[in-house]
Amino acid sequence: MVSAPDRDGGPLEVRGVVRRYGAVTALDGVDLDVPAGATVALLGPSGCGKSTLLRLLAGLEAPDAGRITLAGEDLTAVPPRRRGVGMVFQDFALFPHLDVGANVAFALVEAGWSRAARRDRVAQLLDRVGLAGAERRRPHELSGGQQQRVALARALAPHPRTLLLDEPLSNLDRALRQDLEGELRELLATLDVRAVYVTHDQQEAFALGDVVALMRAGRIRRVGPPAALLDAPGDVWTASFLGVREVLPAAVGRRLGFGGPVLLRSDALTPDPGGRAFTVERVAPLGEELAFDLHDPDADVHLRWVGRPRELPAAPPGAGEVLRLRVPDTAWTPLEDAP
Ligand code: ADP
Repeated sequence: MVSAPDRDGGPLEVRGVVRRYGAVTALDGVDLDVPAGATVALLGPSGCGKSTLLRLLAGLEAPDAGRITLAGEDLTAVPPRRRGVGMVFQDFALFPHLDVGANVAFALVEAGWSRAARRDRVAQLLDRVGLAGAERRRPHELSGGQQQRVALARALAPHPRTLLLDEPLSNLDRALRQDLEGELRELLATLDVRAVYVTHDQQEAFALGDVVALMRAGRIRRVGPPAALLDAPGDVWTASFLGVREVLPAAVGRRLGFGGPVLLRSDALTPDPGGRAFTVERVAPLGEELAFDLHDPDADVHLRWVGRPRELPAAPPGAGEVLRLRVPDTAWTPLEDAP
């Protein structure tokens, strides 16, 4: 096992960071906290600024405005190799002509570690990622999962304070990606290292991030644990990007007496003989439950409600019939209409 922990107590903090390329503002005032030991997934569509933020965290580029601090220390003037960051890239980017041991030891050679210290550290890390004794193997002899573990070991070798991962799974096929996603999640959890994980894949971000920071057009739109983001997406763009289905557009929200768009949690609706009358448009079995496609003729709202037949007061209504549901206030959340 590793004696010196790859961690450190203070948060990584990004405050008001701006980065411009000519007329393009890639980062437009970014604030982000990455606590020690946590994995933050930076999620957003292509071009929103994720990789730019990662390069600034690595120190490969400098912000035009704002500050990045680690445990209170301003990193702005600190060069990449003294920042204590380890990077894992798309396709892992192992050096094909070097064996596994030399790949993992790469940064240690640059940092002037002695041969014996390098050998110990490499053995320690390979043990930690489940590849003990693989020093002499070549990258092409390894499976995708093993290559990923070597890439992680290489990034972790010089005891980085922060691990930066830039779409490390994006060029792999779906099946392999899902396997590696699981492996990576376990490794990041057991390594207890602070990590920033860039991806445009929501499933990956939600699987790997303790916290997901959703980016749009150079800004962080929303930050939170995955479940909290789905529960309270906050605005229409976020809800749509995350695939939250129950968004009622502004016009419908206004008909219901809200100022704008709303999120309607249909799972908060309960059968109630005195409840609001919905017209059943379609009923379909969904496992042991029934899925009702409903229409509220008063507000012209369409929604889907799923429930067990025995929750219903009488025989389940069919198409064209009425299903009465109580709609508690907690079922509605107003959303911002931010573009
Ligand atoms: P993402 O990683 O989310 O896809 P990027 O950080 O790569 O987004 O890019 C954000 C924006 O900045 C894009 O509009 C991109 O074209 C622009 N950009 C990024 N790097 C450069 C660069 N070196 N020169 C000019 N424009 C850049």
